[in-house]
Amino acid sequence: MRKNTLSSALLIGSACGLIHSTHAQQGLGSGEDLPRHEITHLTGDLYRFRQIRDFGMFAVTPDGIIVVDPMNSEMATWLKTQLDERFGLPVKYVIYSHHHNDHASGGEIFADTATFVGHENMRKNMQAPAADAPLNRRQRLWDANGDGLIQPEEAAGTPHQGVFASLDTNADGGLSHAEMWMRRSGGEQVPPDIYYADKASITLGGKTVELHYMGRNHTDDTTLLVFPDERTIHAVDFLTPKRPPAYDVYGGFFPDWLESLRRVEKLDFDIISPGHELPGTRADAIEQRRYMEELVAAVTAGIAAGLTKQELIDTVLMEDYDHMIEFHEHRADNVGGVYETLIADR
Ligand SMILES: [Zn+2]
Repeated sequence: MRKNTLSSALLIGSACGLIHSTHAQQGLGSGEDLPRHEITHLTGDLYRFRQIRDFGMFAVTPDGIIVVDPMNSEMATWLKTQLDERFGLPVKYVIYSHHHNDHASGGEIFADTATFVGHENMRKNMQAPAADAPLNRRQRLWDANGDGLIQPEEAAGTPHQGVFASLDTNADGGLSHAEMWMRRSGGEQVPPDIYYADKASITLGGKTVELHYMGRNHTDDTTLLVFPDERTIHAVDFLTPKRPPAYDVYGGFFPDWLESLRRVEKLDFDIISPGHELPGTRADAIEQRRYMEELVAAVTAGIAAGLTKQELIDTVLMEDYDHMIEFHEHRADNVGGVYETLIADR
């Protein structure tokens, strides 16, 4: 097991599933009135478990249980107790959707019985950068004074605004690449025992789950789970029904992400079980793909026309999607995140 200096407790909930305003109109409720922990039956042998607005899932078979994303130690401890009481079966597999610490933590709770599985790119993504590693290309866009660190004023308008102090672990007033890496990737995670590349399947107790690598999207190590018996997919962070990506566009890959969403539509499924928010349908996958296509096309055209990041934020309004959950919280970040990704990658 890997050890890092910063406690994973500091990091949980900081990355993909930020809790903002109320969502009673979407049936989500606010963060305050949502269950902290809950198990819901999805369909067939599939169940979802939650910590507020973050979700993992599991499949129950006669020979044991397959868990997707144990999430964190608190969640996994609660889940193990529930699984023991309800089913009396061991967790035989833990599958990771991707390496981010708000999904891939907590595996130690099941380490005595489970085999851990993830995409091969998790191997590099779970390696902490050296303390003096240089800023990456995106981060260099923020580094106005060119000193190799991101000061609070440089973090304004970035995903690290508002959490600066918690990330600046050496309290030198500037964020290094390694300190920013900790936010989403640090902590203590049980690494996969088995890595796969393009496609894999696991069969346990007559139940088969397929692991599909859909290319680069929210990360370059994302696995899409397919449960053929239930015509269900489990998609995390790159496809969230009825909601734009939150800060998930930062660190994402464009235009690769679009191709990933197009590939989802070619699969045979009825139900989307997402890593955040509530389940959806094929129509939600189509809507997400259209949103992302229009977003990337508008930002690409704006860059070609010489517009700045702020000018794009002011003009790429995406009004056709203002019914989506937290649209008004995320639109500007989505525009800015795609802009910075395309600029940094040129
Ligand atoms: Zn993520």
